Amino acid sequence: MIARRLLVCCLAYSIISPLSFAQSSSVTTSSARFDGYSTQSSSQERDWEKKFQEGVVANNLRESMRRLSARPHHVGSPYDKDNAEWLLAKFKEYGFDARIEAFQVLFPTPRERIVELVSPTTFKAKLQEPALAVDPTSNQTGEQLPTYNAYSIDGDVTAPLVYVNYGMREDYEKLDRMGISVKGAIVIARYGNGWRGIKPKVAGEHGAIGCIIYSDPKDDGYFNGDDYPGGGWRPKDGAQRGSVMDTDYPGDPLTPGVGATADAKRLDIKDAKTITRVPVLPISYADALPLLSALKGPVAPEDWRGALAIAYHVGPGPAKVHLKVASNWDLKPVYDVIATLRGSEAPEQWILRGNHHDAWVNGAEDPLSGMVAVLEEARVLGELHKQGWNPKRTIVYCAWDGEEPGLLGSTEWVETHLSDLQKHAVAYINSDGNGRGYFRASGSHDLEHFINDVARDVTDPEKGISVWQRAHLYRISRANAEDRAELRKRADFRIGSLGDGSDYTAFLDHAGVSALNIGYGGEVDADQYHSIYDDFYWFTHFVDSDFSYGRALAQTGGTAVMRLADADLLPFDYAGQADTIERYEKELEKLLKDKQDEITERNLELKEGVFSATADPKKTSVPPPLETVPPFMNFAPLKNSIETLKQSADRYQAAWTKAWASGTLALSQPAMDSINLDLIRVQRTFLTERGLPERPWFRHQIYAPGAYTGYGAKPIAAVREYMDQKKWKQAEAEVPGVAKVIDDAATAINKAADDLEAGK
Ligand SMILES: [Zn+2]
Repeated sequence: MIARRLLVCCLAYSIISPLSFAQSSSVTTSSARFDGYSTQSSSQERDWEKKFQEGVVANNLRESMRRLSARPHHVGSPYDKDNAEWLLAKFKEYGFDARIEAFQVLFPTPRERIVELVSPTTFKAKLQEPALAVDPTSNQTGEQLPTYNAYSIDGDVTAPLVYVNYGMREDYEKLDRMGISVKGAIVIARYGNGWRGIKPKVAGEHGAIGCIIYSDPKDDGYFNGDDYPGGGWRPKDGAQRGSVMDTDYPGDPLTPGVGATADAKRLDIKDAKTITRVPVLPISYADALPLLSALKGPVAPEDWRGALAIAYHVGPGPAKVHLKVASNWDLKPVYDVIATLRGSEAPEQWILRGNHHDAWVNGAEDPLSGMVAVLEEARVLGELHKQGWNPKRTIVYCAWDGEEPGLLGSTEWVETHLSDLQKHAVAYINSDGNGRGYFRASGSHDLEHFINDVARDVTDPEKGISVWQRAHLYRISRANAEDRAELRKRADFRIGSLGDGSDYTAFLDHAGVSALNIGYGGEVDADQYHSIYDDFYWFTHFVDSDFSYGRALAQTGGTAVMRLADADLLPFDYAGQADTIERYEKELEKLLKDKQDEITERNLELKEGVFSATADPKKTSVPPPLETVPPFMNFAPLKNSIETLKQSADRYQAAWTKAWASGTLALSQPAMDSINLDLIRVQRTFLTERGLPERPWFRHQIYAPGAYTGYGAKPIAAVREYMDQKKWKQAEAEVPGVAKVIDDAATAINKAADDLEAGK
């Protein structure tokens, strides 16, 4: 489900420039002694980590990828199960206590797919990615899932076509200005600029009866470089499969909130809210070209035009299209592989690490480039264990199934083990594929400082400097003046916030487990996302040919796991968390002000007659409606609670500094255990039982995906989502509820500070 190309580093995310600089947020500065370690335990840890990093062998990643990507291995396929069993055997061989946990999930696979132009001329879309002679697995046609969008409703529709650009909400506002309605039409949208599942959803909300999504060469084809197999970019017949499951909740559509075990109570398919309302299919640009060429009507706005050699028209018609989708709506098994290395001193505290193993087809990059790194971590940790390394905490390695259709394996697993996870889980560290280039991390900001420190201790394979240094300098090269100043001043680079693009979602958003998502990217000059060509041949020619960044990912992930597993006190940093939440609150205020300014200005222009004076009478243009200017919103409760949170973070930091002043912690083991439990609980306090107002499965009040953006995060979604819908009163009514959880978090942090000060 993850969009590799959207894993851009987090500076790009922020909707406003930072207004204030974080005080150097670190609990301690790195290098001499690790956070949460005594001088002595730190130097032992450093030795083990060094051994670990030296033990990671790039060629093991290559051979694992060769094995796991040898055949298509989507949910329900024979090779998916075969891979799960192979992974199970590997984890056991490495000394882990491993098992497979299976669930039964709804996973539709296509039975019939038609896209055809029926007038003014006729053309039948091929809907097939051809085998290529140089690419040895591209001819496994009998085992490949056809190009389709999973969880599209069945349908058979014929209607005029309308081109809707990326098919996001703002594109429909532009269509309104052009006087074009999609009511009763089939829309064609290009991939990109938001999660694909939003496209059929918004199309349906605007009255369309079908949706086609195509890959424009501007976004991932020849506009970017040579196409496959000469280069790495998507060729003319390449198409992007993918899930279009709606965003109410991830996981099995039939068992929201509970594990999809064999005997679970299931919804009727017709009652599952996450299946689309209109039929949808993905196509290549070779298939899209005759359709787009047959459109007339206004020429598309300049930023709507792709890289095909045509004049892009919007329609509607005269192109008329027939779209048919019919699927087998069966339950299929998913096989999660769960491997445990029991902790020696605090086995009831769990450090979890995972990547998914299922793919749309052969999936060399997505997901195996991440999976094979995670597997290699487990191998080397197993080696160290045999040499006498005994992690304090329990380590759990997870190879998830069913991520691609809708985070199925991880969500069902988290729902099944929810109460245990809430008691025991310290953190979950995810990867989902890997590339070449710069270190990237997103996550809950209590781990921001921690992952910065880990990145300081991993060497970049191309440059020989730390991956932290390289990522930091890269950000400077890309930032505007204000951001550059902050980057140079701040001890740590900021990590992005998590939406719902991968298997961390249930951990953070549903269970309140602190989470990270890590990987490398930015230098990959290729893209075959969710295509049959994302395979071993392509990956080893165009992505991370020598697996040196796969090795770096294993070094980073394994180091993070070890350092969390062995710390005397868990190295959570609440200053970074508070600083980030404060930024989110400021973004809300800025969003309100921008909306007020924008609507005030537009209303004025309407009164002045700007629109009628400038509209070209030879073109249809509809002026925007007069709108009520958004009212004042009272953010004071939120601001007050953030002040309280900052104070608690400062207090904790002071208690921490004092407690560690001598380089050792004068605390009994029970006292340390109890403080660690205090710390584990903090992230849980951000959850509410009721969840987000319109998406109750999402219980975290700070981190959530957007209902209309997908992939990306929409912080403080309870408030923000209503603001985006211009429901200002409802938005304001959510402010006190969010303030309350922030107060609760502050109380939990103060409790940890109390216990640390009391030294008991
Ligand atoms: Zn993936």
